[in-house]
Amino acid sequence: MTTYQKAIELFDYSRDLRRQFHVMPELAFKEHQTASFIAKELIRLGYQVREGIGQTGVTGILDTGKPGKTTMLRFDMDALPILEDTGHDFASKNEGIMHACGHDGHMAIGLTLARLVAENLQTLSGKVYFVFQPAEEICQGALGMIADGLFDEIAVDYALASHLWAEKPYGWIGIPDGPVMGGSSDLSIIVRGKGGHAAKPDDTVDPLKIAAHIILDLQKLISGRLSQDDKAIVSITQIEASDRKNIIADRVRMAGSLRWFDETTRDKVKTQLQDICDEIAIGFGGSAHVETEDQTIPVVNNKGLANACRQSLRVLRVDVPELKVDDQYRTHLSEDFSFIARQVPSAMLLIGASKAIDGNVYPHHHPKFDIDERSISLAVASLMQIVTTLHAQKGD
Ligand SMILES: [Zn+2]
Ligand SMILES: [Zn+2]
Repeated sequence: MTTYQKAIELFDYSRDLRRQFHVMPELAFKEHQTASFIAKELIRLGYQVREGIGQTGVTGILDTGKPGKTTMLRFDMDALPILEDTGHDFASKNEGIMHACGHDGHMAIGLTLARLVAENLQTLSGKVYFVFQPAEEICQGALGMIADGLFDEIAVDYALASHLWAEKPYGWIGIPDGPVMGGSSDLSIIVRGKGGHAAKPDDTVDPLKIAAHIILDLQKLISGRLSQDDKAIVSITQIEASDRKNIIADRVRMAGSLRWFDETTRDKVKTQLQDICDEIAIGFGGSAHVETEDQTIPVVNNKGLANACRQSLRVLRVDVPELKVDDQYRTHLSEDFSFIARQVPSAMLLIGASKAIDGNVYPHHHPKFDIDERSISLAVASLMQIVTTLHAQKGD
């Protein structure tokens, strides 16, 4: 039986798990029911389980008893503060909380894979280390687990993660070399002018006008000043000015997000941002100050490992004619697997999973977000195929 056929044989198990998790979504660091469900299942499958790592994190180790590599497989557990609008009969029972990013599917992938690994132990060597992580959505779960001993008492050779990806269809798998998901920094811009009466704008330097010019010109100026390779995104998402209709404010605060793939580009964009804000603000007789604070770093795939992953996925083509392994795709969305990936050679696989509701495919974090459940099996088969390659028993 092929690995894909084994994963498909467990499809009902995977789908039921996904739907059980979907019904009971929990927010970051509050994944108590979810974590205890996972811990029980891992124990039932024969794993050596630790709970409460980084608050609600769960880990499970399966030792083949034979010398070999140790691979960490990381899955995230948290949901989002969103009121679900899918109309599913397995829709969220926790009102105002929803698995709208696919993490319900990720946990189903994780437990199905844990079962496959346990059932095929005789063909593997080394140790397989399952990690169910809290609080990915607020970028704190991975760091929390690392601080709480994720890497203690076990030498990890490789780490793998996957994310179901609504932008792409079933059969598509994205796994480039180098950066695959972006770093993110919070951005704040304070514009100062001279406030006054709304009836006498000529006596003021209106910081709101300066801010409006900055918002309108920022994208154009940033992209004009960076080279094609320096891919970065700047989005202004918040603005605060006067709280009175008849007062022109002294200062305006804008905030937003900066997304980047490498630190050199991030620093270039920061400098350009300050230059652009200076030029515009000074032209109006005001001033502007830019501040950024890093939230996450990019997820960087290890070249050798990403290549080994792509090679091992080839055999899936026999069972999945739609298979398309993409080694070029990158996204500016962020993932805190980045903090694990900077410690050990790692690879993140994006697994196409788009599913239309009412004729539309809704993006991650949308109240109508959904996934193609077949992609859970394809993710299980892909990761199992890679684990089998990395943990192949060497002949003696
Ligand atoms: Zn998300
Ligand atoms: Zn996510």
